[in-house]
Amino acid sequence: MERKLDIIPVSEWGFFDESIPPIVVAGPCSAESELQVMTTARELSDFGIHVYRAGIWKPRTHPGSFEGVGAPGLKWLQRVQKELGMKVCTEVANEKHVYECVKYGIDMVWIGARTTSNPFLVQEIADALRDTDMPVLVKNPVNPDLGLWIGALERLNRAGIRKLGVVHRGFTTSQKIPYRNLPLWQIAVELRTLFPDLAVFADPSHMGGSKEYLQPLSQRAMDLGFEGLMVESHCDPTCALSDASQQLVPTALKSMLESLTVRRKSTSDKEYNENIEQLRTHIDVIDENLLIALGSRMDISRKIGRFKREHNIAIIQPQRWDSLLEGMIEKGRSYGLTEEFVRTVFNAIHDASVAEQNKILEQ
Ligand code: PEP
Ligand code: MN
Repeated sequence: MERKLDIIPVSEWGFFDESIPPIVVAGPCSAESELQVMTTARELSDFGIHVYRAGIWKPRTHPGSFEGVGAPGLKWLQRVQKELGMKVCTEVANEKHVYECVKYGIDMVWIGARTTSNPFLVQEIADALRDTDMPVLVKNPVNPDLGLWIGALERLNRAGIRKLGVVHRGFTTSQKIPYRNLPLWQIAVELRTLFPDLAVFADPSHMGGSKEYLQPLSQRAMDLGFEGLMVESHCDPTCALSDASQQLVPTALKSMLESLTVRRKSTSDKEYNENIEQLRTHIDVIDENLLIALGSRMDISRKIGRFKREHNIAIIQPQRWDSLLEGMIEKGRSYGLTEEFVRTVFNAIHDASVAEQNKILEQ
Protein backbone atom coordinates (compact mmCIF):
# COMPACT_ATOMS: atom_id res chain seq x y z
CA MET A 1 0.00 0.00 0.00
CA GLU A 2 1.38 3.36 -1.01
CA ARG A 3 1.72 5.65 1.97
CA LYS A 4 1.14 9.36 1.52
CA LEU A 5 1.54 12.36 3.78
CA ASP A 6 0.23 15.83 3.05
CA ILE A 7 3.10 17.95 4.29
CA ILE A 8 3.90 21.66 4.37
CA PRO A 9 7.67 21.82 3.78
CA VAL A 10 9.81 23.26 6.57
CA SER A 11 10.82 26.16 4.30
CA GLU A 12 7.23 27.44 4.60
CA TRP A 13 7.02 27.33 8.40
CA GLY A 14 8.87 30.60 8.81
CA PHE A 15 10.97 29.14 11.64
CA PHE A 16 14.45 28.66 10.29
CA ASP A 17 17.06 30.65 8.48
CA GLU A 18 17.85 28.34 5.59
CA SER A 19 20.51 30.52 4.05
CA ILE A 20 23.23 28.85 6.14
CA PRO A 21 22.39 25.13 6.39
CA PRO A 22 21.85 23.03 8.43
CA ILE A 23 18.71 24.29 10.14
CA VAL A 24 19.20 23.92 13.89
CA VAL A 25 17.04 23.41 16.96
CA ALA A 26 19.22 23.88 20.04
CA GLY A 27 18.80 24.25 23.77
CA PRO A 28 19.12 22.36 27.01
CA CYS A 29 17.88 18.86 27.62
CA SER A 30 15.69 20.28 30.39
CA ALA A 31 14.50 23.70 31.45
CA GLU A 32 15.88 23.88 35.00
CA SER A 33 15.57 27.49 36.11
CA GLU A 34 14.59 30.80 34.59
CA LEU A 35 18.22 31.92 34.72
CA GLN A 36 19.53 28.76 32.99
CA VAL A 37 16.81 28.99 30.30
CA MET A 38 17.45 32.69 29.61
CA THR A 39 21.26 32.51 29.72
CA THR A 40 21.44 29.54 27.38
CA ALA A 41 18.89 31.04 24.99
CA ARG A 42 20.70 34.39 24.89
CA GLU A 43 24.05 32.76 24.13
CA LEU A 44 22.50 30.63 21.37
CA SER A 45 20.58 33.56 19.90
CA ASP A 46 23.82 35.58 19.83
CA PHE A 47 25.21 33.35 17.12
CA GLY A 48 22.07 32.97 15.05
CA ILE A 49 20.11 30.06 16.52
CA HIS A 50 16.42 30.85 15.96
CA VAL A 51 14.65 27.80 17.37
CA TYR A 52 15.09 26.94 21.03
CA ARG A 53 14.37 23.60 22.66
CA ALA A 54 13.98 22.79 26.37
CA GLY A 55 12.32 19.77 27.95
CA ILE A 56 9.57 20.76 30.40
CA TRP A 57 8.30 17.25 31.15
CA LYS A 58 11.13 14.70 31.09
CA PRO A 59 10.61 10.99 30.40
CA ARG A 60 13.20 9.40 32.70
CA THR A 61 14.17 5.77 32.84
CA HIS A 62 14.15 5.60 36.63
CA PRO A 63 11.67 7.19 39.01
CA GLY A 64 13.20 9.73 41.33
CA SER A 65 15.36 11.32 38.60
CA PHE A 66 14.66 14.94 37.70
CA GLU A 67 11.35 14.81 35.82
CA GLY A 68 11.25 18.39 34.59
CA VAL A 69 9.93 21.61 36.09
CA GLY A 70 6.50 21.21 34.48
CA ALA A 71 4.11 23.96 33.36
CA PRO A 72 5.83 26.86 35.24
CA GLY A 73 8.79 26.44 32.86
CA LEU A 74 6.54 27.37 29.94
CA LYS A 75 6.54 30.96 31.23
CA TRP A 76 10.34 31.00 30.88
CA LEU A 77 9.97 29.88 27.27
CA GLN A 78 7.51 32.74 26.73
CA ARG A 79 10.22 35.12 27.95
CA VAL A 80 12.62 33.61 25.39
CA GLN A 81 10.04 34.32 22.67
CA LYS A 82 9.39 37.87 23.81
CA GLU A 83 12.88 39.05 24.72
CA LEU A 84 14.94 37.19 22.13
CA GLY A 85 12.43 36.69 19.31
CA MET A 86 13.21 32.97 19.17
CA LYS A 87 10.73 30.22 18.38
CA VAL A 88 10.43 27.77 21.26
CA CYS A 89 9.62 24.08 21.42
CA THR A 90 9.28 21.31 23.97
CA GLU A 91 8.41 17.62 24.22
CA VAL A 92 4.80 16.51 24.65
CA ALA A 93 3.94 13.02 25.82
CA ASN A 94 0.19 13.28 26.44
CA GLU A 95 -2.81 15.51 25.75
CA LYS A 96 -2.36 17.50 28.95
CA HIS A 97 1.09 18.58 27.79
CA VAL A 98 -0.39 19.67 24.47
CA TYR A 99 -3.10 21.76 26.13
CA GLU A 100 -0.51 23.49 28.32
CA CYS A 101 1.68 24.24 25.28
CA VAL A 102 -1.27 25.68 23.37
CA LYS A 103 -2.24 27.79 26.40
CA TYR A 104 1.27 29.25 26.67
CA GLY A 105 1.69 29.80 22.92
CA ILE A 106 4.59 27.37 22.45
CA ASP A 107 5.57 27.48 18.77
CA MET A 108 6.37 23.83 18.08
CA VAL A 109 6.37 20.48 19.90
CA TRP A 110 8.24 17.24 19.49
CA ILE A 111 7.17 13.71 20.34
CA GLY A 112 9.90 11.80 22.17
CA ALA A 113 11.20 8.37 21.22
CA ARG A 114 9.44 6.58 24.06
CA THR A 115 6.11 8.16 23.11
CA THR A 116 6.37 7.49 19.36
CA SER A 117 6.50 3.81 20.31
CA ASN A 118 2.99 4.06 21.77
CA PRO A 119 0.15 4.48 19.23
CA PHE A 120 -2.41 5.25 21.97
CA LEU A 121 -0.42 8.24 23.17
CA VAL A 122 0.39 9.42 19.65
CA GLN A 123 -3.34 9.34 18.83
CA GLU A 124 -4.16 11.24 22.01
CA ILE A 125 -1.58 13.90 21.13
CA ALA A 126 -2.78 14.09 17.52
CA ASP A 127 -6.38 14.61 18.69
CA ALA A 128 -5.31 17.32 21.12
CA LEU A 129 -3.33 19.11 18.39
CA ARG A 130 -6.23 19.08 15.91
CA ASP A 131 -7.11 22.60 14.77
CA THR A 132 -3.81 24.06 15.94
CA ASP A 133 -1.23 25.17 13.42
CA MET A 134 1.65 23.81 15.46
CA PRO A 135 4.53 22.10 13.69
CA VAL A 136 5.42 18.71 15.15
CA LEU A 137 8.75 16.90 15.05
CA VAL A 138 8.43 13.15 15.55
CA LYS A 139 11.43 11.35 16.98
CA ASN A 140 12.01 7.78 15.90
CA PRO A 141 10.54 5.10 18.19
CA VAL A 142 13.07 3.51 20.56
CA ASN A 143 12.82 0.24 18.62
CA PRO A 144 13.94 0.15 14.97
CA ASP A 145 10.44 -0.10 13.53
CA LEU A 146 9.97 2.17 10.53
CA GLY A 147 6.27 1.28 10.36
CA LEU A 148 5.69 2.61 13.87
CA TRP A 149 7.48 5.85 12.98
CA ILE A 150 5.40 6.28 9.82
CA GLY A 151 2.24 5.35 11.73
CA ALA A 152 2.83 8.24 14.15
CA LEU A 153 3.23 10.65 11.23
CA GLU A 154 0.03 9.32 9.68
CA ARG A 155 -1.94 9.76 12.91
CA LEU A 156 -0.81 13.39 13.15
CA ASN A 157 -1.43 14.04 9.49
CA ARG A 158 -4.96 12.62 9.71
CA ALA A 159 -5.62 15.06 12.55
CA GLY A 160 -4.80 17.87 10.10
CA ILE A 161 -1.20 18.47 11.18
CA ARG A 162 0.74 19.26 8.01
CA LYS A 163 3.85 20.93 9.39
CA LEU A 164 5.66 17.69 10.10
CA GLY A 165 9.32 16.81 10.50
CA VAL A 166 11.21 13.88 11.97
CA VAL A 167 14.17 13.55 14.30
CA HIS A 168 16.51 10.58 13.97
CA ARG A 169 18.01 9.91 17.41
CA GLY A 170 19.04 6.29 17.08
CA PHE A 171 17.64 3.07 18.53
CA THR A 172 17.92 1.12 21.73
CA THR A 173 20.18 -1.89 21.38
CA SER A 174 21.66 -4.62 23.50
CA GLN A 175 24.79 -4.62 21.31
CA LYS A 176 27.92 -3.18 22.85
CA ILE A 177 28.43 0.12 21.02
CA PRO A 178 30.25 3.36 21.82
CA TYR A 179 27.06 5.39 21.34
CA ARG A 180 24.07 5.75 23.61
CA ASN A 181 21.79 4.65 20.77
CA LEU A 182 22.46 2.66 17.62
CA PRO A 183 22.37 5.03 14.62
CA LEU A 184 20.91 2.66 11.93
CA TRP A 185 21.01 5.56 9.46
CA GLN A 186 19.42 3.45 6.74
CA ILE A 187 16.05 3.60 8.51
CA ALA A 188 15.96 7.41 8.41
CA VAL A 189 17.24 7.38 4.84
CA GLU A 190 14.42 5.02 3.87
CA LEU A 191 11.87 7.33 5.51
CA ARG A 192 13.36 10.27 3.65
CA THR A 193 13.10 8.43 0.36
CA LEU A 194 9.45 7.52 1.02
CA PHE A 195 8.50 11.09 1.98
CA PRO A 196 10.83 13.53 0.22
CA ASP A 197 8.96 16.61 1.61
CA LEU A 198 9.61 15.62 5.20
CA ALA A 199 12.31 17.64 6.98
CA VAL A 200 14.72 15.17 8.56
CA PHE A 201 16.71 16.24 11.60
CA ALA A 202 19.41 14.23 13.32
CA ASP A 203 19.76 14.39 17.09
CA PRO A 204 23.47 13.64 17.63
CA SER A 205 23.10 14.35 21.36
CA HIS A 206 20.81 11.44 22.18
CA MET A 207 22.37 9.27 19.50
CA GLY A 208 25.93 9.78 20.74
CA GLY A 209 25.31 10.30 24.44
CA SER A 210 28.65 12.03 24.77
CA LYS A 211 30.10 15.34 23.57
CA GLU A 212 32.90 13.69 21.60
CA TYR A 213 30.50 12.05 19.14
CA LEU A 214 28.48 15.15 18.32
CA GLN A 215 30.70 16.36 15.48
CA PRO A 216 31.14 13.06 13.59
CA LEU A 217 27.47 12.13 13.95
CA SER A 218 26.38 15.58 12.76
CA GLN A 219 28.77 15.37 9.82
CA ARG A 220 27.33 11.97 8.89
CA ALA A 221 23.83 13.50 8.91
CA MET A 222 25.05 16.28 6.61
CA ASP A 223 26.69 13.76 4.27
CA LEU A 224 23.37 11.93 4.04
CA GLY A 225 21.65 15.21 3.08
CA PHE A 226 19.59 15.65 6.27
CA GLU A 227 18.07 19.10 6.56
CA GLY A 228 18.65 19.77 10.22
CA LEU A 229 20.05 19.05 13.63
CA MET A 230 18.47 19.03 17.05
CA VAL A 231 21.31 19.48 19.52
CA GLU A 232 21.41 19.87 23.26
CA SER A 233 23.22 22.89 24.61
CA HIS A 234 23.43 24.13 28.20
CA CYS A 235 25.08 27.24 29.64
CA ASP A 236 26.78 25.07 32.29
CA PRO A 237 26.57 21.38 31.36
CA THR A 238 28.53 20.21 34.39
CA CYS A 239 25.55 21.23 36.54
CA ALA A 240 22.85 19.93 34.18
CA LEU A 241 20.06 17.99 35.88
CA SER A 242 19.72 15.61 32.93
CA ASP A 243 22.03 14.42 30.14
CA ALA A 244 25.04 16.33 31.48
CA SER A 245 27.63 14.38 29.46
CA GLN A 246 26.13 15.12 26.05
CA GLN A 247 25.48 18.86 26.31
CA LEU A 248 27.74 21.53 24.82
CA VAL A 249 28.09 25.11 25.98
CA PRO A 250 26.72 27.43 23.28
CA THR A 251 30.17 28.61 22.11
CA ALA A 252 31.30 24.99 21.66
CA LEU A 253 28.12 24.30 19.71
CA LYS A 254 28.91 27.27 17.49
CA SER A 255 32.40 25.86 16.70
CA MET A 256 30.98 22.38 16.14
CA LEU A 257 28.42 23.72 13.65
CA GLU A 258 31.07 25.81 11.89
CA SER A 259 33.26 22.73 11.48
CA LEU A 260 30.60 20.88 9.48
CA THR A 261 30.92 20.49 5.74
CA VAL A 262 27.45 20.80 4.29
CA ARG A 263 27.15 19.20 0.90
CA ARG A 264 24.99 20.91 -1.68
CA LYS A 265 22.00 18.84 -2.80
CA SER A 266 22.22 19.98 -6.39
CA THR A 267 23.97 22.42 -8.63
CA SER A 268 23.20 24.14 -11.88
CA ASP A 269 26.72 23.38 -13.13
CA LYS A 270 26.04 21.72 -16.50
CA GLU A 271 29.33 19.84 -16.72
CA TYR A 272 28.87 18.36 -13.23
CA ASN A 273 25.27 17.34 -13.94
CA GLU A 274 26.14 15.66 -17.24
CA ASN A 275 29.09 13.81 -15.77
CA ILE A 276 27.24 12.64 -12.67
CA GLU A 277 24.39 11.46 -14.87
CA GLN A 278 26.79 9.39 -16.99
CA LEU A 279 28.53 7.94 -13.97
CA ARG A 280 25.22 7.00 -12.36
CA THR A 281 24.06 5.32 -15.53
CA HIS A 282 27.31 3.41 -15.62
CA ILE A 283 26.74 2.25 -12.04
CA ASP A 284 23.17 1.20 -12.92
CA VAL A 285 24.51 -0.94 -15.77
CA ILE A 286 27.11 -2.55 -13.53
CA ASP A 287 24.47 -3.24 -10.86
CA GLU A 288 22.27 -4.92 -13.43
CA ASN A 289 25.22 -7.04 -14.54
CA LEU A 290 25.92 -7.98 -10.93
CA LEU A 291 22.33 -9.20 -10.58
CA ILE A 292 22.61 -11.23 -13.76
CA ALA A 293 25.88 -12.76 -12.56
CA LEU A 294 24.38 -13.54 -9.14
CA GLY A 295 21.36 -15.15 -10.80
CA SER A 296 23.60 -17.36 -12.96
CA ARG A 297 25.68 -18.27 -9.96
CA MET A 298 22.58 -19.28 -8.04
CA ASP A 299 21.41 -21.44 -10.94
CA ILE A 300 24.70 -23.32 -10.89
CA SER A 301 24.50 -23.59 -7.14
CA ARG A 302 21.07 -25.21 -7.46
CA LYS A 303 22.47 -27.69 -9.98
CA ILE A 304 25.24 -28.56 -7.53
CA GLY A 305 22.59 -28.97 -4.81
CA ARG A 306 20.65 -31.46 -6.92
CA PHE A 307 23.89 -33.28 -7.74
CA LYS A 308 24.82 -33.51 -4.07
CA ARG A 309 21.35 -34.83 -3.24
CA GLU A 310 21.64 -37.53 -5.86
CA HIS A 311 25.05 -38.58 -4.53
CA ASN A 312 24.20 -38.07 -0.87
CA ILE A 313 26.98 -35.54 -0.21
CA ALA A 314 27.00 -32.97 2.65
CA ILE A 315 26.24 -29.43 1.55
CA ILE A 316 28.81 -27.51 3.52
CA GLN A 317 32.42 -28.26 2.93
CA PRO A 318 34.00 -25.61 5.15
CA GLN A 319 37.61 -26.16 4.15
CA ARG A 320 36.81 -25.66 0.50
CA TRP A 321 34.97 -22.42 1.28
CA ASP A 322 37.73 -21.07 3.58
CA SER A 323 40.44 -21.56 0.98
CA LEU A 324 38.25 -20.10 -1.78
CA LEU A 325 37.50 -17.06 0.35
CA GLU A 326 41.17 -16.48 1.14
CA GLY A 327 41.93 -16.58 -2.58
CA MET A 328 39.14 -14.12 -3.28
CA ILE A 329 40.37 -11.72 -0.60
CA GLU A 330 43.82 -11.78 -2.17
CA LYS A 331 42.42 -11.11 -5.65
CA GLY A 332 40.05 -8.48 -4.27
CA ARG A 333 43.01 -6.48 -3.03
CA SER A 334 44.32 -6.08 -6.56
CA TYR A 335 40.88 -4.69 -7.53
CA GLY A 336 41.04 -2.11 -4.73
CA LEU A 337 38.57 -3.97 -2.48
CA THR A 338 39.14 -4.35 1.24
CA GLU A 339 39.25 -7.70 2.98
CA GLU A 340 36.18 -6.78 5.04
CA PHE A 341 34.16 -5.93 1.95
CA VAL A 342 35.10 -9.11 0.07
CA ARG A 343 34.44 -11.22 3.15
CA THR A 344 31.00 -9.65 3.74
CA VAL A 345 29.87 -9.93 0.13
CA PHE A 346 31.06 -13.47 -0.46
CA ASN A 347 29.88 -14.78 2.87
CA ALA A 348 26.42 -13.38 2.05
CA ILE A 349 26.51 -15.04 -1.38
CA HIS A 350 27.71 -18.31 0.11
CA ASP A 351 25.08 -18.27 2.88
CA ALA A 352 22.33 -17.73 0.30
CA SER A 353 23.66 -20.63 -1.80
CA VAL A 354 23.79 -22.94 1.19
CA ALA A 355 20.21 -22.01 2.12
CA GLU A 356 19.08 -22.73 -1.42
CA GLN A 357 20.88 -26.10 -1.49
CA ASN A 358 19.31 -26.97 1.86
CA LYS A 359 15.90 -26.33 0.39
CA ILE A 360 16.73 -28.71 -2.45
CA LEU A 361 17.91 -31.36 -0.04
CA GLU A 362 14.66 -31.12 1.94
CA GLN A 363 12.51 -31.56 -1.18
C1 PEP B 1 15.06 14.82 24.65
O1 PEP B 1 15.07 15.30 23.51
O2 PEP B 1 15.44 15.44 25.65
C2 PEP B 1 14.68 13.39 24.82
C3 PEP B 1 14.20 12.91 25.96
O3 PEP B 1 14.93 12.70 23.73
P1 PEP B 1 14.55 11.20 23.25
O4 PEP B 1 13.07 11.16 23.15
O5 PEP B 1 15.25 11.17 21.93
O6 PEP B 1 15.15 10.25 24.25
MN1 MN C 1 18.16 14.88 26.77
